[in-house]
Amino acid sequence: MKRGCLPQLLCTALLVLVAIWRMIGAPFTARDWADLSTPFWQARMLLPSRMTRMALLWPFLSSSQERPAATSLLDADNPEAVLLSQLSSPSGPASRPLQSTLTLNVFNIQTGRLTQVPLEDYVCSVVAAEMPASYHLEALKAQAVASRTRAVAQAAANGGTGCSLRQGADICTDSSHCQAFADVTACRAKWGDEYEVYRQRVAQAVRATAGQILTYGGKPITVLFHAISGGMTEAASTVFSQSLPYLVSVESKGEEGVRGYNEVAIFTFEEAARLLASAFPLDSLTGEKLQQSFGIARYTPTGRVDTLFLGDKELPATEVRKALGLRSTWFSLSMDAEHILFHQRGYGHGVGMSQAGANAMAAEGGSFDNILAHYYPGTQLASSQP
Ligand SMILES: [Zn+2]
Repeated sequence: MKRGCLPQLLCTALLVLVAIWRMIGAPFTARDWADLSTPFWQARMLLPSRMTRMALLWPFLSSSQERPAATSLLDADNPEAVLLSQLSSPSGPASRPLQSTLTLNVFNIQTGRLTQVPLEDYVCSVVAAEMPASYHLEALKAQAVASRTRAVAQAAANGGTGCSLRQGADICTDSSHCQAFADVTACRAKWGDEYEVYRQRVAQAVRATAGQILTYGGKPITVLFHAISGGMTEAASTVFSQSLPYLVSVESKGEEGVRGYNEVAIFTFEEAARLLASAFPLDSLTGEKLQQSFGIARYTPTGRVDTLFLGDKELPATEVRKALGLRSTWFSLSMDAEHILFHQRGYGHGVGMSQAGANAMAAEGGSFDNILAHYYPGTQLASSQP
């Protein structure tokens, strides 16, 4: 044997072992290990079934990547699924998950896996991720209906388009693409000592509205929502160039006291110029040029910024928001010797239901159906079951 062969063989063997470890789905990252309460015991329990699955799938391994994993929340073989069912069950892991007939193929952007999740369990995880669980129960119910509607509308089984990020997925867990999603681990981290109280509040809101969706003309609506409107929601036609009769501008009272209602974003001129130059074809943009020739060109009817000017160029405010990571397009500008300041109002794109506004309406005695009728005018509540 030549010198140097032994280390190569050892490295290859190690790589093969790692590949097998990954293929059988055994815990790998720190997060995987943290998800298992007794890692070695559970990994040992998982090995036989995963090895069998791997042996069966081996000839099709390359193509099986695009297929959903054959798992459900009742599948004790899937630790992620077991964790999820704990979130929606009324009294902990031993109970059955919520009743639902529609099962979604959810693409988890963190794990890269496609998992089958019953609709009502999915809604629990979305409400937990998308709205503060401390919000009023009626606001949580409104969020549950909105999030369920989005999932039902997107599901391929209902003729929806699914999620374009992954073939075979109905919906993904990217909040900027489909809807955010929090499993038990994420909820525990987020809620800490309040975990049990908040879990039950979310589950209660989902159960109370189980199967209910918003429709317009007998079809599930296109749902959009955001955190804080700033006092008025925005029409879909202004932000997304798509006009929908139920996504129009409405007043959103009682948001003023909410944390994050007003926030200032500060950039040096050089920083802002670099960020804008990477988003727009503005190669020669310098901090100095920005300081001399940047400002607001036009406003939307609600008072948000519609376009900004940079020299003789006009930039859509929604794109500027994205490039600079601003909280909203409702802002005014100011400058000092070195900085540009964006005095922002609200948080999010401003279209559809304002979560802070929904919470304010609920605090004033509004029910979830009042809230939904206000933010999505002309829509009806209906059952998601045919
Ligand atoms: Zn998506």
